[in-house]
Amino acid sequence: MPFTLRRRTLAILTLAAVMSAPASAADKLPVTASFSILGDLVAVVGGDRVTVRSLVGPDEDAHVFEPRPADARNLLQSRLLVINGMGFEPWASKLARSAGFKGETVVASTGVKPRAGAADTTAGHGHGHGHAHDHADPHAWQNPNHVAQYVRNIAAGLSKVDPAGASTYAANRDAYLGELQALDAWIRTQLAAIPVAKRKVITSHDAFGYFSAEYQVRFLAAQGVSTEGAPSAKAVGELVRQIKREKIRTVFVESMSDPRLVAQLGKDAGASVGGSLYSDALSPPGKPGSTYLQLMRHNVTQLVQGMQQN
Ligand code: ZN
Repeated sequence: MPFTLRRRTLAILTLAAVMSAPASAADKLPVTASFSILGDLVAVVGGDRVTVRSLVGPDEDAHVFEPRPADARNLLQSRLLVINGMGFEPWASKLARSAGFKGETVVASTGVKPRAGAADTTAGHGHGHGHAHDHADPHAWQNPNHVAQYVRNIAAGLSKVDPAGASTYAANRDAYLGELQALDAWIRTQLAAIPVAKRKVITSHDAFGYFSAEYQVRFLAAQGVSTEGAPSAKAVGELVRQIKREKIRTVFVESMSDPRLVAQLGKDAGASVGGSLYSDALSPPGKPGSTYLQLMRHNVTQLVQGMQQN
């Protein structure tokens, strides 16, 4: 009897070792993410068990992305597609359909309460096709508390296609939820130095609505919620008057956008141009926004420095 027990224990231990051993590259679960920020979240939750590829890479603009034939071929190799949803990347479901993708799709923002887009009240005409239908603001990742929901959805999606990894995904998820909580607390500490009346920022496109709502920072943007389409001269003129009226001293450039618009705004309104913000894309490796956590810390540091001048 003791012998049998020991044999069984040994068998269980061996099975556990096999299951928890890092898979070789060929065995890893191939996942496609629509854009680089989601790619980072998938890599964190998936850990050693997944390989992830982002369709829209660092410093690229997902609003105006056009998939290439190679993207369809790569997607077909994947077991899971992770998209933001909320009309951010309407090209992704078209790509999945036209490529004949048969894997699972995770909509990372599922369960996040959408915020109405602000494009109509700022520059107008800034909508991508996706936004034109529902007018929701897709940039929910700018609030780390929403990213907690993203991470839960991603862990659930990974566990569905790879049930053997469920406990790994749950552990990685929980560790990262702790990081997100720490990030949220850190942001609040940083912003506490700036009176709410001075928490005003100018940037190029309206990507920071969720951040704004969570942390009481007002963002005025020359473009709408999408980067597609240039703002009208009338809208830019109104923004210049507003910058002067509200005594905003710094304008911010977004890493993936054309910096000329913001530079011109700053010149016309007599404001200086602050550091670059990462809104819809990570930076390449080695730059200050190469992970989501770094990106948020970089943005908040830049914003606080700029708002201190207001
Ligand atoms: Zn955007």
